[in-house]
Amino acid sequence: MKTELFPEDIRPFILPEPGGDLGYDCLKCRARLQPNRLYYTCPHCGGLLTITDSARQRLHEKPGSFWRRLFDYRRMSNHQAIRGVFLFHEFLAPLIPLTDIIYLGEGHTPAVAAPLALAKEVGVSFYVKLDGLNPSASFKDRGMAAALSYLKYLIRTQNLTQVMAICASTGDTSAAAALYSASLGGSVKSAVILPQGRVTPQQLSQPLGSGASVFETPGVFDDCMKVVEYLSERYQVALLNSKNPWRVLGQESYAYEVAQQFDYEVGDLALLIPVGNAGNITAILSGLLKFFQAGVIDRLPKIIAVQSERANPVFLYYNQPATNRQYVPVTVRPSVAQAAMIGDPVSFPRLANLADLYQKAAGPESFFAVEVAEVDIIEGMIQANRRGLPVCTQGGEGLAGLKKALALGLIAPSETAVVDSTAHALKFMDFQNAYFDGRLAQEYGITTRPELVNRPRSLNLTGPKPDGQTAMSPEDRQKFVETAAKAIAESLGLLETNEKP
Ligand SMILES: *Cc1c(COP(=O)(O)O)cnc(C)c1O
Ligand SMILES: [Zn+2]
Repeated sequence: MKTELFPEDIRPFILPEPGGDLGYDCLKCRARLQPNRLYYTCPHCGGLLTITDSARQRLHEKPGSFWRRLFDYRRMSNHQAIRGVFLFHEFLAPLIPLTDIIYLGEGHTPAVAAPLALAKEVGVSFYVKLDGLNPSASFKDRGMAAALSYLKYLIRTQNLTQVMAICASTGDTSAAAALYSASLGGSVKSAVILPQGRVTPQQLSQPLGSGASVFETPGVFDDCMKVVEYLSERYQVALLNSKNPWRVLGQESYAYEVAQQFDYEVGDLALLIPVGNAGNITAILSGLLKFFQAGVIDRLPKIIAVQSERANPVFLYYNQPATNRQYVPVTVRPSVAQAAMIGDPVSFPRLANLADLYQKAAGPESFFAVEVAEVDIIEGMIQANRRGLPVCTQGGEGLAGLKKALALGLIAPSETAVVDSTAHALKFMDFQNAYFDGRLAQEYGITTRPELVNRPRSLNLTGPKPDGQTAMSPEDRQKFVETAAKAIAESLGLLETNEKP
């Protein structure tokens, strides 16, 4: 809709102006730093940074109904800069003018109600938010849209040239980083560092296709991350891992969208979030708290962090008595939820801090962590796919987490859940195929259940067959069609009709 056609009271706000008073806050020494430089860690103490808006009071001065109305109208605008995660500009990164915003189609992914058959099997009604429908097919695009928009803003305002953006990745961060960097047409080059053999072929092809320099290192993600941290401390590079607090801001959009998609009534929802490096869950908690403090939502949903038993440091932390918790990194073992296979999450201090604030605002029953078995992750993916919802292995992990939370009584069957399917199913189909082929036993300890297996069937045909190259005579072709059709009908047990064409 054209801006001049919006209602008069909304019109001046449809296209947001730069505003706010953003700065970096150190979680450790409480230093505050100006936003005119890209920092990943505190230059004084090395602590983790978050970005806050000291002028956020201005957001609270307007009633929640103003923001709800504005955001709902804004969805109708075709202005590119606010089509994506920056629809929530005032709450996201208001420093960045619309002209610096990069929009590649990210955000506003559908929250799809689970088909009845699936909801019945699981025992609760739930939605799946298909975040694999982002441009590089994972939620990481939300964060990259913010991080690269900020980088574009810095390049313009600080006259930077030739930025080298780098990241370590379990596959999806690198795909998103390479894609968003590529969109800047040369001013930002990207290099990604991946654990060899621990990303899917689809994920590996993505940064290659976007023209990034791709390095494979031995080990797992945690080893890659150490190399990237070393690089970012000693060389002039722009770090694009979720240590980069601008990415967290972009990923807050997931929370804002869930609020909008449920008409801002989220108090009775339970959100299930697969957790790896803990950037996503941090962002979601932070976004929900911002909306709550500004009165955009008046109740907070329940948040459930889900981890595999084989990469579970966050679960192990919250599994201890609240009065005396120790954070201990774990050594990961291979997990089919490979994008979350992280033993020492970089954002853990942020998560612990925010989960605390969240429980203070919404009560002790508002945040939980559960762990799930590998077999339940892959079977969760297959079950959802078989009932009409294509989810990735991490989505399968979220679904397994939902079942676990129900079994533990953390969610009641009367509640409604929202499972985050963090990537597109197609990125992780090799795991499904490996399950069908019985190849997950040794590395992942998963035994295939024969009743879930599905494989292509070949037809053992006698007589003439097309070879894909030479033309067939009409008679031979007819013979082929008949024998092939008969073989398929027999295999499917089809009955012949009496009506002939
Ligand atoms: C990165 C990623 C995760 C884990 O998210 P964190 O922010 O690292 O906790 C989960 N699923 C997918 C598909 C991912 O790409
Ligand atoms: Zn500090």
